[in-house]
Amino acid sequence: MTKIIDGKQISSQIKEELRDRVSALRSRGVEITLAVIIVGEDPASKVYVNNKKKACEFIGIRSLSYELPETTTEEELLQLIQDLNGRTDVNGILVQLPVPKHIDEQKIIHAIDPKKDVDGFHTQNVGSLCVGQKGFVSCTPAGIIQLLRRSDISIAGKECVVIGRSNIVGKPMALLMLQENATVTVCHSRTENLKEVCKRADILIVAIGKPRMITAEYVKEGAVVIDVGIHRDENNKLCGDVNYEDVAPHCSAITPVPGGVGPMTIAMLMNNCVSSVEA
Ligand code: NAD
Repeated sequence: MTKIIDGKQISSQIKEELRDRVSALRSRGVEITLAVIIVGEDPASKVYVNNKKKACEFIGIRSLSYELPETTTEEELLQLIQDLNGRTDVNGILVQLPVPKHIDEQKIIHAIDPKKDVDGFHTQNVGSLCVGQKGFVSCTPAGIIQLLRRSDISIAGKECVVIGRSNIVGKPMALLMLQENATVTVCHSRTENLKEVCKRADILIVAIGKPRMITAEYVKEGAVVIDVGIHRDENNKLCGDVNYEDVAPHCSAITPVPGGVGPMTIAMLMNNCVSSVEA
């Protein structure tokens, strides 16, 4: 029987735990504030930002919202980040990506104080992850570790294949799995014999950005499959990078889309906000 990993349920459990941690901090007079900056009118980004604000409200984190016009200059955005870096009442700063094309994304990420970089994108935090030191970890990969742990899926010693090498998913995912003592292979658009490599995986983590690309041919019988992709198909239905109907019968466990990895990202963002004051 294939176990369906319920990201909605696991993320709710994490948010409940965070609410308790926040309330304990409050009773000691500690408040948490997250500043959320969005530049421009991208509808998907607006939905993400609203969901983040709602999660803050649920957990008891104060959120400050900066909704800036598309015409905002790089200098203006950098100035706002500088101001927020300097504010002792602000614990976390998040700039919703992507930013408009005339703004250098890397420059923005690196302007954020690493101690307030709750997205975990600053090279200082990425470097800390690489050498196994404390720091903020990118939320989606951190959420996947929680999904595996809380589903009692053992990682140590297992063959793990990560497909995708992006800075926000693939690379930190591979580092986290290595930290969990998996034997890790990273595949990407130039990998040869992708199917054969994927078939080695006890745990296959898919972050390619190609709707339903991974079919049963890529999956070893009894593997655990984690699908990071989010797309709308031709019928406007949400789907992942994995062809769920084809793959699920061959897995010991799989994440659905929606309701798998997706809800974990915000839960881990909230976790990073809470950790920022507990450190
Ligand atoms: P990206 O486009 O930055 O990276 C995609 C990676 O896949 C690249 O490293 C590329 O080398 C690899 N790739 C592309 N085509 C390939 C192929 N044919 N064979 C093998 N590898 C191939 O994407 P990303 O930001 O890492 O996101 C990946 C997916 O995850 C997207 O669908 C995105 O929407 C989704 N995503 C979901 C969440 C979430 O919260 N659930 C968060 C981030 C991203």
